[in-house]
Amino acid sequence: MAQKDQRLLVALICTVCKSQNYITDRNKINTPEKIVLKKYCRHCRKHTEHKETSKLD
Ligand SMILES: [Zn+2]
Repeated sequence: MAQKDQRLLVALICTVCKSQNYITDRNKINTPEKIVLKKYCRHCRKHTEHKETSKLD
């Protein structure tokens, strides 16, 4: 049987200004925890921590 629904589409938001800057997907099996990544925020104009949110705008 085909494996379905293992990839979760998530948004990455800047923890500083709360802007949604990236959209990615997460494999629930390989990555059970929420993602936190250092990424460039063009609103802050620097690298900030971005965390996962399930809310997609
Ligand atoms: Zn920001």
